Amino acid sequence: MKAVVLKSPFTVEVQEVPIPEISDPSDVLVRVERTAICGTDLHPYEGRLELEADLILGHEFIGTVEAVGNAVTQLREGDRVVASCVVSCGACYQCRRHQPGNCAGSRIFGLGIALGDLPGGQAEYVVVPSADISARKIPAGMETQDEDMLFAGDIMTTGFESVARAMQPGDTVAVVGAGAVGLCAAMAAKALGAAQVVVIDRVKERLKEAERYGAIAVDASEDDPADAVLDLTDWRGADVVVDAVGHESALVSAIALTRAGGTLSIPGVYTEEELTLPFSDLYLKGIKVEMGVAHITEYMDQVIALIQAGTLKPSGIVSHRMGLSEAPEAYRMFEAREATKIVLDPRS
Ligand SMILES: [Zn+2]
Ligand SMILES: [Zn+2]
Repeated sequence: MKAVVLKSPFTVEVQEVPIPEISDPSDVLVRVERTAICGTDLHPYEGRLELEADLILGHEFIGTVEAVGNAVTQLREGDRVVASCVVSCGACYQCRRHQPGNCAGSRIFGLGIALGDLPGGQAEYVVVPSADISARKIPAGMETQDEDMLFAGDIMTTGFESVARAMQPGDTVAVVGAGAVGLCAAMAAKALGAAQVVVIDRVKERLKEAERYGAIAVDASEDDPADAVLDLTDWRGADVVVDAVGHESALVSAIALTRAGGTLSIPGVYTEEELTLPFSDLYLKGIKVEMGVAHITEYMDQVIALIQAGTLKPSGIVSHRMGLSEAPEAYRMFEAREATKIVLDPRS
């Protein structure tokens, strides 16, 4: 089968590799029909996360189950599925307390040995472990919503969780960064009844997309985001601020936008050991901070239902559709920020 393999930083190749096989009774083998490149894939691609040789990348995919382990009860051959990007065990202390992102045996597809050594989904086939816990059957009749469902396994659910864990209906939610997760967070905030959603970025097309979800767009290259948010909130600041960028500068500005007693929610991935932050602002404003690996399987069913109802439609974020064989060019474009979201078709 064809698979996208990281050869060295900034170099991926589409290689011919053996089709993976079920090795655990909880596994299913999935023939991948759509897969996407995620911002998290840039951590290994840009060399910030060292991977073993020839690891298959990717953790966002949907497809059809082709083989089922003996212990799997929820899925059968022929089912169309979406899998959570994070695979949890379902049995450890954290899993039993509905914190699967903190699972003692947590694994993520396509991120190497340090994250559980799971080959990724940017391939024609992928094995999904703990399938009863980590995969969901795509409801019948959703064949035209494949590109929406694809994102239930990661970015849509990550964005949804980032606001669902922090906001109340009627809140003002500010989202720093209109990348894929930021746009999903904005969409989810609207769906969950935010009174105002403010999206801050410097890329005009991304801000236009945010406006399509009813968000107020602030172009940080033209306006001061803090002034804009204070203006909209009687000088309080936003109830919830989502840092959907994952860089120190974004975090510092997110702290400045949060009201006293508000919540800062961080779906972005941080790999830095140390950051310089205005800690006294966090303390004096009594800001709650929510962050960490997303608890995808806790929120996925809600997200799937909202996609099915047409309330969430993350496919609007897709900026490019390419064949899996074009992965080297797709990664180059994505890394150069020429694309918001790229979907790859393993059949071409
Ligand atoms: Zn991701
Ligand atoms: Zn666990």
